[in-house]
Amino acid sequence: MVSPLTRADGVLLKRDDLLHPDIPGNKWRKLKYNVTGEPIVTFGGAYSNHIRAVAAAGREFGFPTGGVIRGEPVRNEVLDFAVACGMRLMFLDRTRYRAKTSPEVLRLVRERFPGHRVVPEGGSNAEAVRGCMEIGPELAHLGEAVVCCPVGTGGTLAGLAAGLPPGFTAVGFSVLKGGSFLSDEVARLQTEALGRVTPNWRIETRFHFGGYARTTPELGAFIDDFETRHGLRLDHVYTAKMMYGIRALALGPTVVAVITGRV
Ligand SMILES: *Cc1c(COP(=O)(O)O)cnc(C)c1O
Repeated sequence: MVSPLTRADGVLLKRDDLLHPDIPGNKWRKLKYNVTGEPIVTFGGAYSNHIRAVAAAGREFGFPTGGVIRGEPVRNEVLDFAVACGMRLMFLDRTRYRAKTSPEVLRLVRERFPGHRVVPEGGSNAEAVRGCMEIGPELAHLGEAVVCCPVGTGGTLAGLAAGLPPGFTAVGFSVLKGGSFLSDEVARLQTEALGRVTPNWRIETRFHFGGYARTTPELGAFIDDFETRHGLRLDHVYTAKMMYGIRALALGPTVVAVITGRV
């Protein structure tokens, strides 16, 4: 399925949120080449959209999944859903979780999930970049545009920018406070996937609204107003911050916002 393009206040919306009911938006694109039928173990917070999407993919395509979750053991609707999909969970305290790419912690993870391919937090790896490179060709008919996405770990922006036709540029909106390190991450991911960094993207760091998953009354009012006028509820973690930033900046005559997921 090619996700539809709709319009809201002069901005084109690339509705990737409609790609799959349980594996929406950029999670579908990032998992496409990561899902090979082999078991997968991956990492995330207790409310991670990525954990939820990997669990759903395991159920739908019939492969075992493991989730390494940051923090003390808890249950919530995301983790209940993941377990119901067949995902097995392992909790790591915050210190160990921070060291999740160290050999010692990886050994613990491999012991718990033998034979599983390790996919990094947020699913951002070279395969994810390849999947997100498929957005650009779906926009080529526009001729030229500034294409925007939210930035969490940077995999989506890395692939989006790498796949854009000539004449297009990409702007990522960091949802993290102090997100300037994300440029290095995007460059690293492009290098891993393509062997080079494309010069057609940048990251806006001014629209984080206090940091990851934080919100403000102003952002809340923006979400309500956008829903009233366009019938689409933006999620406060990612897409609302991007749309707010787009509204605040004059990015060009043709602006596309990739709706990377939903509430
Ligand atoms: C996971 C997620 C993102 C973050 O994408 P990265 O590739 O990690 O930058 C953006 N938007 C939505 C809706 C998400 O669920």
